[in-house]
Amino acid sequence: MRRVYFDNNATTPLLPEVFEAMRPYFVEHFGNASSIHHHGQETRAAVERARESVANLLGARAADIVFTSGGTEADNLAIFGLVHPGDHVITSTIEHEAVLKSCKRLQETGCEITCVPVNGQGLIDPADVKRALRPNTKLITIMMANNETGMIQPLAEIGKIAADSDIYFHTDAVQAAGKIPIDVDEIGCDLLSISGHKFHAPQGVGALFVRKGTKLQPLLYGGSHERSRRAGTENVAGIVGLGKAAELALAAFDRGDDKKIAVMRDRLERELLKLDAVGVNGAIANRSQSSGFRTPNTANLHFDGIEGEALVIALDLKGLAVSTGAACSSGAIEPSHVLTAMGLSPEQARGSIRISLGKQTTEDDVDFALSLIPETVARLRELSPTWNTAPSSELRATS
Ligand code: PLP
Repeated sequence: MRRVYFDNNATTPLLPEVFEAMRPYFVEHFGNASSIHHHGQETRAAVERARESVANLLGARAADIVFTSGGTEADNLAIFGLVHPGDHVITSTIEHEAVLKSCKRLQETGCEITCVPVNGQGLIDPADVKRALRPNTKLITIMMANNETGMIQPLAEIGKIAADSDIYFHTDAVQAAGKIPIDVDEIGCDLLSISGHKFHAPQGVGALFVRKGTKLQPLLYGGSHERSRRAGTENVAGIVGLGKAAELALAAFDRGDDKKIAVMRDRLERELLKLDAVGVNGAIANRSQSSGFRTPNTANLHFDGIEGEALVIALDLKGLAVSTGAACSSGAIEPSHVLTAMGLSPEQARGSIRISLGKQTTEDDVDFALSLIPETVARLRELSPTWNTAPSSELRATS
């Protein structure tokens, strides 16, 4: 059966060049990067080359890159490494669990947290961040691009607010890295998280940019790896893969691959919007721009009268992998916190799916998706007890 993968915001396939770059570090070049002999020097050099490549992707200095086990660890290191009981943290309602649950834990240990809201398009207003400032605010942590909608936040403005108030600014750029250009100085952030598996490097490796002078406590204690910012023998093959994926991502921006992905995403979206009672969750203005309102690969749509989970399962049975933002907790499907924060009703949020393209996506894949989604939506609606009574015009309003 033909299978097409449109869930690249969950994870991406390794690019063959990334795999080839990693291969020697599993077998021939196996040394511990802390060893002083030949084997160690060889892997140390590979780790440092990868650090340069990751720094180039972010417009950062190599010395400011700390390798981690992924985005979750990078987020945790940034947050727990800076914040102490009595401090105040500003975050948003649409962050990934890696940030939200870290903030919840901080609250349990005597910190104060403010969650700024988003508008109907999923955008944070920097004025809300400014209003939330308190004398004890230690950290602002606001994501760069949302994992469910792809909406890109106005980070440079938030960075300026943080700098003016002398407050640390962290951004979770896990869904932005490799998809849109990133420059830590333009953003004005002190810390920035990325994760390899979201841009065609392997799972289990990521990095945290830590601007020089940031006083960060480590999460892990042990050897003095990563300049004592993250103890533990380096995952050399993974780090080499992250470096290679960073190089390939930069070359892809130069070729304009991100714009090609946006064109495919836009065609898919345009065709699906022709269906009855379908809307985009997020902004559709500037949708062909790589650094406009949304990451170029992401479409999140609500389909009136159906359950997103049912649509995901029905499409999977036909060979198309998409996802919902919904989480299954204690046996019940919870509507996505991101979509409900944007003002979608629980029914609309549960009727939404995320379609995320990748570097491997072709026009043919888009045709495949378009040959399946409309007929599957129609079939599910025939079976739906709520479809006939649904107010389709209201639902279109959020598009
Ligand atoms: N932050 C965002 C926005 C994400 O989308 C994800 C993964 O889905 C993470 C953090 C966690 O990254 P990792 O899977 O590398 O731990």
